[in-house]
Amino acid sequence: METIKLYNTQSRAIEVVVPQHIDNVLRIYCCGPTVYHYAHIGNFRTFLIQDILRRLLLAMGHRLRFVRNLTDVDDKTIHGAQRENTSLENFTAQWTHIFHTDCQELNILDPDVEPRATEHIGEQIAMIETLIRKKHAYVVSEGSVYFRISSYTAYGKLSGIDRQSLQNNEHGATQADLADEYGRDSIRDFALWKAYKPEDGAVFWESPWGKGRPGWHIECSAMAMKYLGETIDIHGGGIDLCFPHHENEIAQSVCVTGKPFVRHWFHSEHLQVDGQKMSKSLGNLFTLKDLKNKGYGVHAIRYALISGHYRQILNFTLSGLDAAQSALNKLKTKIMHLFQGCDFSPAIATNFPSQAVITYEYLRGAIEALKCDLNVPQCLGEIFAVLNNATVGNEQLWKELQTVCSILGIETYLFDREEPRIVEIPRDIEILAARRWQAKQDKNFKESDHLRRLLMEQGWSIIDHQEGYRLEKKRDPIIDAAKN
Ligand code: AMP
Ligand code: ZN
Repeated sequence: METIKLYNTQSRAIEVVVPQHIDNVLRIYCCGPTVYHYAHIGNFRTFLIQDILRRLLLAMGHRLRFVRNLTDVDDKTIHGAQRENTSLENFTAQWTHIFHTDCQELNILDPDVEPRATEHIGEQIAMIETLIRKKHAYVVSEGSVYFRISSYTAYGKLSGIDRQSLQNNEHGATQADLADEYGRDSIRDFALWKAYKPEDGAVFWESPWGKGRPGWHIECSAMAMKYLGETIDIHGGGIDLCFPHHENEIAQSVCVTGKPFVRHWFHSEHLQVDGQKMSKSLGNLFTLKDLKNKGYGVHAIRYALISGHYRQILNFTLSGLDAAQSALNKLKTKIMHLFQGCDFSPAIATNFPSQAVITYEYLRGAIEALKCDLNVPQCLGEIFAVLNNATVGNEQLWKELQTVCSILGIETYLFDREEPRIVEIPRDIEILAARRWQAKQDKNFKESDHLRRLLMEQGWSIIDHQEGYRLEKKRDPIIDAAKN
């Protein structure tokens, strides 16, 4: 196993990533999308760098459990469902399906576990009860529950926010926030449980404080702890989540368990478009679909979104996307020239997590760039420099190149990967997969998504292609260890 280094927002330093548990499995949690609309390419910039972190760790011989949630209840999802006159479940199922399809097209690996907020209400209520018992939270008259920030002295350490400025509302709680949460003792306090309002329609759960729904922050704490334990190794998200979302996650988790919540915070910078924040009103908010409609390929989009350093703002432009496409074409042409006619066996396992660690002779610089805080631009520069001076038919270089490209997730475009050979697919899995495919054809996305998740829970991923699908066995080291 080889170590990698990653910037930690908490310590503000680049640190070696080391698992804390004796089973050596790294526990990773990333905040997932809110499923009410298409994810935009900014969201995908964040999901892509998380994918590269994961692929790199796997290629370095680490074992991981990677959890990325779905936020399927909040104001936006509730309003969306009402607008379409459908249930919250149906509404979020459609958008979840589209999100999965986009992820697949962008060659983002499926998470090992993909929990939904609405399926973990019990866990969230239990956490809130503990917080109330320990006097870190209070109930207001209409039945909402708030976290009392003054009860947690370390609040603000992650983002460097000073608590007094919060008190003075210097971080911009809007009138809408305030109207929504009028019962708070302090403007800083955030909602753990939101009491039912008539606008919520049919969306509510019973709780010890009456009908209502959880706040956004508690969802992630409850799901992260359920699947990864009280202290997780790496927690990721876009930089905008650092405050207040992650600050709030830390406060409520530490106050429940008395233990550190996260050892390593992994935040990625935002994507801008034409030098501006993306927004619908500026007409510069792109989805994957928008760019595909303009004729761009998904591989070029992936390449463009990963090609800047993740801790710097990336300015996305259509001409940058053209440049990404031509860089990819150049790489492909070079690879064809260097390896045409060579009968080398594929170095990349189709089942990526089972990758064996290889030694690097030619692309050491490229792999070292990734190992030191995921420096993708430097890695790409190294690849081009090496290929420019390479001799034809070098098998070792072929092996290294395939591996580095598969860490970047551009291998499918550059190499004709073999279809995986599944030795044995259990009958019940085949039946489930066939039912899912049928449900998808029938556009019953709720059912097809449900079946896909059943398969995921049993360790199988489905990869759709134009005429059908294939199944891939996933490995979950924590489940595997428990079985043995
Ligand atoms: P959301 O669905 O809004 O909760 O966002 C999902 C993920 O995308 C989060 O990790 C956000 O921090 C991240 N994100 C949102 N906007 C951008 C952006 N413009 N650039 C990069 N990441 C973003
Ligand atoms: Zn979160």
